Amino acid sequence: MIKFLDLGRQYREIQSEVDEAIRSVLETSHFIGGPAVASFEAEFADYQAASHCVGVGNGTDALEIALEALGLPPGSEILVPANSFIASSEAVTRTGHRVVFVDIDRETYSIDVAAARRAVTPKTAAIVAVHLHGHPAPMDELLILAEEFGLKIVEDAAQAHGAEWDGRRVGAIGDIGTFSFYPGKNLGAYGDGGAILTNSDDLARRCRMIANHGRQAKYDHEFEGRNSRLDAMQAAILSVKLRHLDRWIENRRMIAATYSAELAGIDGLALPVTNSRARHAFHLYVVRCADREALVAHLKENGIQTGVHYPISLPKLGAYQYLGEPDPNWLANQWDSELLSLPIGDHLTKSDATFVAAKVREFFDGS
Ligand SMILES: *Cc1c(COP(=O)(O)O)cnc(C)c1O
Repeated sequence: MIKFLDLGRQYREIQSEVDEAIRSVLETSHFIGGPAVASFEAEFADYQAASHCVGVGNGTDALEIALEALGLPPGSEILVPANSFIASSEAVTRTGHRVVFVDIDRETYSIDVAAARRAVTPKTAAIVAVHLHGHPAPMDELLILAEEFGLKIVEDAAQAHGAEWDGRRVGAIGDIGTFSFYPGKNLGAYGDGGAILTNSDDLARRCRMIANHGRQAKYDHEFEGRNSRLDAMQAAILSVKLRHLDRWIENRRMIAATYSAELAGIDGLALPVTNSRARHAFHLYVVRCADREALVAHLKENGIQTGVHYPISLPKLGAYQYLGEPDPNWLANQWDSELLSLPIGDHLTKSDATFVAAKVREFFDGS
C-alpha cells in the first residue's frame, strides 16, 4: 500500500521529541501565547528569512489578517490565480474586497503574469501570489508589475515552506506572506495552525493586533480585531518538526526527481516543470492526464493512493457563479479535469517512487 499521506509513520519517527515538547507545555501550563509560541515564531522567521513571524489560528485566518492589515481601500480588486484552494480567494471577499481571477501559467501552475497585467484596472490593489504545489510564483516579474501599478503582494505560501525563488525563501519577498500548518502541509501541526511573515515592522504589529482583539496591552483595545491564535501545544510541536523539515523536503525532492526521471517521455502524461530560478519544495507532485479517472483506478488497483488539487477550478465553483461564466479558454478551467497528484512525502522511499512510476507507465503501455 502506497499512502498519499502517512502522519502516523512520521510521528513514530520523532515520537520522543514530540512527546517531550508536549509534556513541557503541559508542565508550564502556558497554553496560550508564552515561550513556546515566541520561540517557534522566531525560529520560523529565521528559517524563512523574514524579520517577523506572527503565529495565528490557521492558514485561512493568516490570509484574512494579512489582507486586512494592508488597509486597502474597501472594494478593491485583488488578483487571484484560478487554480488554488478556495482560501486564497475567500480571504479577499471576507475582507471586503473583490476577487478577480487570473489564469495560470502553463508550466508552473501559478499566476500567469501576462494575464495578471491584462486584468489590472484602476481599482486593482493587490495580487495574491500562490506558491502552488510548493513551486514559487515568479516573484521578480510580479514585483515589477506591482511596482508599476502600485499593487501590494500577498504570498500565499501555505504549500511552500522551504521553497525558494532566486535563492530567497518565500513568504517575505512580497509585502506579506502567509503559511498554513494544516497537518498534511510540508510543515504540519497536530491540529490547525498558521503564520504570517513580513519584513515590515508596521504590518507585523498590525497583524498581531488584529489577531489579538485590536490590542497590544491587555484590555486596551485600540480597534476591533478578532481572536486567531497559534496555540502553545502546536507551536511546541512545530518547533520539533521544523528541525526535521529540510530533510523531509529533500526526501520530497528525491521522490519528485525519481518520478520525473522514470516518467519522462510518456505520450499523454505532462510532468511538473521547475523554473530554473526556483527551488521547488514539492508539497505536491502534480501530473496531467486526459483520462485521469482511468489512471486513478489503475493506481488504486495496485494499492497506490492519489489526490486531485483541485478538481474544480475556482471560477467554476458555485461560490463564484456571481462572477459570470468561467472562460473555457483558460488553462485552469480546462486542466481541472486532468490534474493528478501522485503520492509524495517523507514517508516514501526511492523504491516506492520507482514502483509508483512503473505502475503509471504500465497504464500507458497497456492502453
Ligand atoms: C491549505 C491552504 C490554505 C489554508 O490553510 P488552512 O490552514 O487550512 O486554513 C490556503 N491556501 C492554500 C494554497 C492552501 O493549500
